Amino acid sequence: MRYREGMFGVYVHIPWCRVRCPYCAFAVSTRRDPPHAAYTDAVVREWQLRRDLFSGRPSSVFFGGGTPSLCPPEELARILAALDPAPGAEVSMEANPGDLPVPLAAFRDAGITRLSLGVQSFDPRVARRLGRGHTSDDARALVAEAKETGFASVSFDLIFAVPGQTLEAFQADLDAVIALAPDHVSLYGLTIEPDTAFARVRTPAADEDLWRAMYDAAVDALSAAGIDRYEVSNFARPGHRSHHNEHYWRARPWAGLGASAHAWWPDGTRAANVSDVEAYLAAADPLVSLERPAPRALAYELLWSTLRHVDGADRAALTARTGLAIDVDPSLVRAGLVVEHGGYVRLTATGFPLADGIADRLANTLVDAHPGVPPLPVSSGLTDTLRQP
Ligand code: SF4
Repeated sequence: MRYREGMFGVYVHIPWCRVRCPYCAFAVSTRRDPPHAAYTDAVVREWQLRRDLFSGRPSSVFFGGGTPSLCPPEELARILAALDPAPGAEVSMEANPGDLPVPLAAFRDAGITRLSLGVQSFDPRVARRLGRGHTSDDARALVAEAKETGFASVSFDLIFAVPGQTLEAFQADLDAVIALAPDHVSLYGLTIEPDTAFARVRTPAADEDLWRAMYDAAVDALSAAGIDRYEVSNFARPGHRSHHNEHYWRARPWAGLGASAHAWWPDGTRAANVSDVEAYLAAADPLVSLERPAPRALAYELLWSTLRHVDGADRAALTARTGLAIDVDPSLVRAGLVVEHGGYVRLTATGFPLADGIADRLANTLVDAHPGVPPLPVSSGLTDTLRQP
């Protein structure tokens, strides 16, 4: 968890989408004529404001959104030229089936090394329910093009617990995904977020038992195919973990550029940008909030992020950063939810689906590593920052 020079990532939010999906709560713009060049200028300007906060060169860049594959490759190349990532850096881009105006080879030539494909489902009924304009043929064609073009890694995003989706239908979806031999899978259980079309028509969330059965089915099927869980929602073949996302789960700093982007600077400051795309374009500096979490809030964040990863929470690093120590409730060990190993506290296979609740339990039993000094108050409003990526 300690910061080393160059061990930071850069997240770049590209906000353009053709339509807003009914479950989406991200900051997106559906304007028909995105001002791509002006947006690139704003991102580059923002990086020039932040550059000196970070030492070394980024070891990863992630173009997320929105739909970055709607952005002309030359604009992404211009942003990459400004970021100047380290040699061999992982450069990821999200791409959606049906939202690719130019061949993927143009993005590879612009410097993209890893693709994250928003497949979501190969089941046409589920894709329709999610409001995705693509067919399963579009998704398969994009996967085939990605493999032929030659990227270092190709990841699939998959959504489960969609209203009306049965366990059998999801298992068929998993079979379809595995048949296409992905290097990496990110798995998201659908949540009904406020201010989305699903929330407005009161779409019911999936039954908890069904949610759990689908998650367990995914873990089993992916693991049997050699795609192992290395974070609660992420699975990879050996050598294909997302280096960028590991910055988040290992609590390393990252820069966040673009509308609505969040960041965690090396000095421990949390930063957030204005969400509105037009306001971002017009701002001399798009920052809208800066916060330095108090030790207990920081410890909670470290637990919440690091426990999600198979490596677990590093006791010594947490104490060095917060002055607090993890005191594991023995009942968590007896219940088979947590193990302690070599200075790390880790979740077991049973504990993984309960990661957030276990992080809460551990946060509530943190002890002062330096007795005699009164505990500091917990600042609030930070949890969403870590959930954002
Ligand atoms: S494509 Fe992704 S970012 Fe765009 S509206 Fe749909 S879910 Fe949101």
